[in-house]
Amino acid sequence: MAKPTLGIIGGGQLGSLLAEAAKKIEVNTVVFSDDPNSPAKNFTDKFIYSKYNDLENIDKFEKVVDFITFEFENIPFETLNTINQKKPVLPNPKINKIIQNRYSEKNFLKKLNIKTTNYELIKSEKDIEFNKKLLPGLLKTCTLGYDGKGQYKINKIDNLSNLNIKFNVKFILEKLINLKKEISVIVTRFGKNKYEIYEPIENLHEHQILKKSKIPADISKEHIEKSKKWTIKIAENLDYIGTMCVEFFIDKKDELYVNEIAPRVHNSGHLTINSHNISQFENHVRAVCKLEQKKTKKLYNAEMINLLGNEINNYRGKILKKNQFFYDYLKKEIKEKRKMGHVTIIE
Ligand code: ADP
Ligand code: MG
Repeated sequence: MAKPTLGIIGGGQLGSLLAEAAKKIEVNTVVFSDDPNSPAKNFTDKFIYSKYNDLENIDKFEKVVDFITFEFENIPFETLNTINQKKPVLPNPKINKIIQNRYSEKNFLKKLNIKTTNYELIKSEKDIEFNKKLLPGLLKTCTLGYDGKGQYKINKIDNLSNLNIKFNVKFILEKLINLKKEISVIVTRFGKNKYEIYEPIENLHEHQILKKSKIPADISKEHIEKSKKWTIKIAENLDYIGTMCVEFFIDKKDELYVNEIAPRVHNSGHLTINSHNISQFENHVRAVCKLEQKKTKKLYNAEMINLLGNEINNYRGKILKKNQFFYDYLKKEIKEKRKMGHVTIIE
């Protein structure tokens, strides 16, 4: 049988790692991205550079692929929807529409009776004053934030004027959680009640950017069970196909909250490339290309460290130990705090 071809919209490191996983199981890839310097260009079989609203290029892309997915949740909904009408995009773009917006994402969780931080929609400074009970809190743009971008910490109303916030976009204000730990749970759903779920991963953030992830997470049995149960509930209710991730907070009183949902493969799951027989990327490719679902098993405990900015230079050309695995995203430019690569250590 001819190799199937998977189209990936978006060309960042997640696209690269998806393309690598696809290659391993004999699936060709075509990356479609609006950045001519996409890192995924180095890893995919074919690369199409195009604006996301260019209908002619969308046509070209759709014609050369058998299956379509995306690697980045902030791809314009219109693009995903246009493509979806020609050939199904998995996971379904309507899922993205819910999750792209922090307010509708939180409302969705509330409807499922899943605990999240307290939050309110904020359109003006007055709305913040009106919701003083949420301070100290984090003000987050409803859309387009990642790695802590578009977030402001507000301790007191008095601080507000110093922050110079422009209310030309909508925000949510979220009560600050007294964090004990952050964890994430990754699941790949193949169909109704058919999924492979990974054990919770413990995450350490610095300046709102993920720095380290490890398994096993040092958390109670109860938190392991509850976080997995909620993740499955979310995936089932979204009728999700492919790999997704749920980020959780555990506070100092041991309460569990869902922080956010990522409708895609996730940075905390990079360690699954080395720790498991099947990585989050391979499982995603299997699910969206309708390939066989295989039992996913842990082989090793592991820790992953993100290499931000110049830290990448400490690993380029370095001789590694047998249990260390280095991934260079081959980004053209080193920028401070930019995710440039990662290293995973297995034990
Ligand atoms: P992003 O989309 O940028 O990942 P998140 O909402 O996940 O945004 O926030 C990034 C990080 O900031 C979280 O992983 C956590 O460390 C911190 N953070 C976010 N919201 C809260 C909160 N309500 N209370 C405490 N810490 C928070
Ligand atoms: Mg996050």
